Amino acid sequence: MKVYFSIDIGGTNIRIGVFHADETQPIRLKKVHTQETGTVLDRLKELIREQGAEGEEIEAIGIAAPGPVDSKNGIVFSCPNIPEWENLPLKEIIQHEFDVPVALENDANVAALGEWLHGAGRGHHHLVYLTVSTGIGGGVILDDQLILGSQGLAGELGHFTVYPDGPLCSCGQRGHLEALASGPAISRYVAEQISAGRASILSGTSLPSAKDISMAAQDGDDLAREALERAGRFIGRAIADYLHVYNPSIVILGGGVIQSGEVLLGPIREAVKLHVMSPIYLQNLVITTAQLGDNAGLLGAFSLARKLFPC
Ligand SMILES: [Zn+2]
Repeated sequence: MKVYFSIDIGGTNIRIGVFHADETQPIRLKKVHTQETGTVLDRLKELIREQGAEGEEIEAIGIAAPGPVDSKNGIVFSCPNIPEWENLPLKEIIQHEFDVPVALENDANVAALGEWLHGAGRGHHHLVYLTVSTGIGGGVILDDQLILGSQGLAGELGHFTVYPDGPLCSCGQRGHLEALASGPAISRYVAEQISAGRASILSGTSLPSAKDISMAAQDGDDLAREALERAGRFIGRAIADYLHVYNPSIVILGGGVIQSGEVLLGPIREAVKLHVMSPIYLQNLVITTAQLGDNAGLLGAFSLARKLFPC
């Protein structure tokens, strides 16, 4: 029996799924911590080896990797939380080790594919996917094609300037959306406001997490609400610009921070309306939340491998 292996490498966990070619429910699924004993690469190889089963033949392996990825040549340029992965030819390494074709792609692009084919984006031909968590990433599908660019580096929607000369981004530039609306950016804002003397039920927490802030907002904390509304306005402002550039029929919002709900989504929608250059862009536009959660990467990597290497 022919199967596809699908791997989602995150800063915290590596997930692996084994799929039949024509089913979207994995036959087997396993999750391990990314950082434990040994190198991440050795753990990854071990994980793939472990999932091999008698009577099964691996048709291809699809891999979603964080950080900028040269998907054409299969190189991971750099990887947040895996510092030893710099210019790593991951595709070649895995291909060589297991003697099967490998498809490698940036995790946000892969999640966009997953949501498009199996989640909130089904039936759409033009889609923008934005994930807001520790970082902000994205993927764009236009005319039923994932946009990759000349080096496979397109779709970095979080590194989009929304506040010139604003706070420093993880990439080293200033004022990017990620520096203003990611989980750590929201935490930083709340901590700064508390040290400037603002009252909050989060006072006393040295650096509240985005989840703490979301819960405080639900409990009616003014500062927490304001921090999420502020992030929402920046996200909405960026989305208005994505509409001008890509003219999608759906914008899908994923990632942990988006789970804050209406306190964030309301200001996002309002800011989109406020900053869009013409209401024509909003006709038939759907702005919605992702459906697949943690499975978007796995399903996307599986779909990518199956598309590139059909059985
Ligand atoms: Zn940046």
